[in-house]
Amino acid sequence: MTSVVIVGSGFTGFECARRLVRILRKQDAQAEVTLVSPVDYMLYTPLLPDVAGGVVDGRFVTIPLANALRGVRLVRGRATDVDFDGKTLTYTDPEDRARELRWDRLVLAPGSVTRLFDIPGLATHARGLKSTAEALYLRDHVLEQLELAHVDDDPDRIRARRTIVIVGASYSGTELAVQLRALADSAARQLGFDPAEVRFLLLDMAEQVMPEVGEKLGAAALEVLRQRGIDVRLGMTLNAVEDDHVILSDDTRVDTHTVAWVTGVTGAPLIESLGLDTERGRLKVNADLQVPGHPDVFAAGDAAAVPDLTKPGKITPPTAQHATRQGKVLARNVAASLGYGTRKQYKHRDMGLVVDLGPRYAVANPLNVQLSGRPAKFVTRAYHLLAIPRLVNRWAVSLAYLTDAVFDRSVVSMGLSTTADANFAASEGIPLPKAN
Ligand SMILES: Cc1cc2nc3c(=O)[nH]c(=O)nc-3n(C[C@H](O)[C@H](O)[C@H](O)COP(=O)(O)OP(=O)(O)OC[C@H]3O[C@@H](n4cnc5c(N)ncnc54)[C@H](O)[C@@H]3O)c2cc1C
Repeated sequence: MTSVVIVGSGFTGFECARRLVRILRKQDAQAEVTLVSPVDYMLYTPLLPDVAGGVVDGRFVTIPLANALRGVRLVRGRATDVDFDGKTLTYTDPEDRARELRWDRLVLAPGSVTRLFDIPGLATHARGLKSTAEALYLRDHVLEQLELAHVDDDPDRIRARRTIVIVGASYSGTELAVQLRALADSAARQLGFDPAEVRFLLLDMAEQVMPEVGEKLGAAALEVLRQRGIDVRLGMTLNAVEDDHVILSDDTRVDTHTVAWVTGVTGAPLIESLGLDTERGRLKVNADLQVPGHPDVFAAGDAAAVPDLTKPGKITPPTAQHATRQGKVLARNVAASLGYGTRKQYKHRDMGLVVDLGPRYAVANPLNVQLSGRPAKFVTRAYHLLAIPRLVNRWAVSLAYLTDAVFDRSVVSMGLSTTADANFAASEGIPLPKAN
């Protein structure tokens, strides 16, 4: 039987597997589709800031593969090597055993990891926002710091615990800042201190907040951030991170115990290890998503440098919008390579972005129509509820939104995610040294 192996269960791998089994079933094809992923779910990342802010439960943003991908063989493991001549893939299973899979067609969709810079202390003391573990950790950690500050008697330590530094003012960093702000406001109300005592710093090297939404909406977002007491500093990053302070790039010291690093992504570590051509850490592919020189290998999503046919010379940005659509084209082209249907080049005009800016506010530019305030909030929430690929999750997220509209946020840190779980290395799947 023909074997198609897909690496990664994110937007790209999930959509590709879902479509491909449908096409092959219709054609009565003698082919098996196997999906290899370290996790048994597809993560709906756009709602991670809501998880960090305590609006949505972590489970609600995970789509179980078992339920959603019937007809796909699911293998829990992390791909570590590909033999392109022998057509095998080596992966490590959850019990650390090396295993092998044979493939006739290989689809590489391992996504991306947080891009770290050579800033002293960054990897040790800062946290990212790419996994549910990181989102839950941030929520719990912020609440714990506010609770500790509330019973502390050292004014400097209280100030440090009540200071939160977020680096990266693109849409995900900005959404994180407003969600943590709303969580801190709830905590202040419920614990009984002035919310203004919680200081938020949002830094970015760029000269604009969220350049992805254009100047006008970026300026509207900046205004809202400032109204919410978030100190936005543009043209600024970090020089060093310690466990109780950071040094900004203008050499100012800021005492803090909470640093979130949300500055951008690069291709998953697997990609660099393959020895194939890459562009900015992403695997080079042709416009039909096939890897040059390897007719049986395809790649897409954040892990691939897909030519953007709507903007000659550029590659498509790493967004869920592109990843999902590329997953569909992958399914079609892999099926075509097996003799079912015809190939297509990937071409998609950006449909715009929706950015949730916390209580009662959002900015969005669907199909280039610029919206802000309540209309944007409605469009943003409706978009996510439609885009989450499972009815049960839509239901659960809708109820979470309704609960948030009626009740104050729950101030609980349950400690479900440890510092080690939320470490950058854990989120990238790099094994941590075992504790003695
Ligand atoms: C906080 C946040 C908010 C975002 N908000 C938006 C938004 O509002 N709109 C938008 O369009 N985009 C958004 N994005 C971007 C979007 O999440 C990505 O573009 C999208 O997830 C890319 O899909 P992908 O399938 O390529 O990768 P991913 O979704 O990252 O999936 C990759 C999968 O591969 C698995 N994997 C990794 N390495 C291996 C390996 N070696 N072997 C096997 N499996 C492996 C991973 O575990 C994961 O399951 C956001 C991202 C973040 C982090």
